[in-house]
Amino acid sequence: MSNNKNSDNIETIITNLLESVGDDPQRPGLIETPHRVEKMYQEILGSINQTEFTDYKLFDNESVGADQDVMVTNIPFYSMCEHHMLPFFGVANVAYVPNDKIIGLSKIPRLIDFVSHRLTLQEKLTHDIALELNRILKPKGIVVQTEARHMCVEMRGVKKLNSVTKSKYYDGIYKEQPDMLNNFIMTVNSNRGSL
Ligand SMILES: [Zn+2]
Repeated sequence: MSNNKNSDNIETIITNLLESVGDDPQRPGLIETPHRVEKMYQEILGSINQTEFTDYKLFDNESVGADQDVMVTNIPFYSMCEHHMLPFFGVANVAYVPNDKIIGLSKIPRLIDFVSHRLTLQEKLTHDIALELNRILKPKGIVVQTEARHMCVEMRGVKKLNSVTKSKYYDGIYKEQPDMLNNFIMTVNSNRGSL
């Protein structure tokens, strides 16, 4: 987003928005707000013009067996709904069966941050995590499950409080071997925290 030639207009746009909703951009509590909001968007929408996650190193797979998976659960994420520009947030659970390469475990949360920092939808976010890991690792299979609360559901309209939306993507060995998928789901359920 920082490459966008219009990014220096966010302050002006937010000032206009504050006026449009009937507030006074000059009152003391709001005077710094347009600038703060600009900085905030640069951070939370920072992946908008970036197509690929590049901040990782791969390691040779010397320890994970043929049908074993690498599983990381309860990874927090924060993203923005593209329909309402309101946050949705929750946890992602990821597993893959490696071929010859594995990725450092700390890089999976970074990758999830990367795909979260744009305007998107939960289903797209779930799929994007899998697409990036498939591109980077070419694993034998991958499964990604996300659970999220959507502020556009909870703050407006029907106001379904604390409703959690789930989304799942899986391919490869997780499609061919239902036991692998069931094992993932059981592990996720047993590690589940509350959102
Ligand atoms: Zn929404």
